[in-house]
Amino acid sequence: MDLYYVNKNVQTNGDHEVHKSTCGHKPNRENSLYLGAFNTCKNAVKEAKKYYIKSNGCYYCCNECHTS
Ligand SMILES: [Zn+2]
Repeated sequence: MDLYYVNKNVQTNGDHEVHKSTCGHKPNRENSLYLGAFNTCKNAVKEAKKYYIKSNGCYYCCNECHTS
């Protein structure tokens, strides 16, 4: 299980990025919304979509859930 966060700030393409707690590209604490512990990034993105409909996996830590 990994701990996942979603960036409260929107990217220039309109996405809110989902990150693992270990990602070097995750936003700082005040811009991170904690999602919970998940087995797969797909479940984390699904959870993030409850908050931000345009949620997307981080290219670096959630590449399999990243869509461009
Ligand atoms: Zn990341």
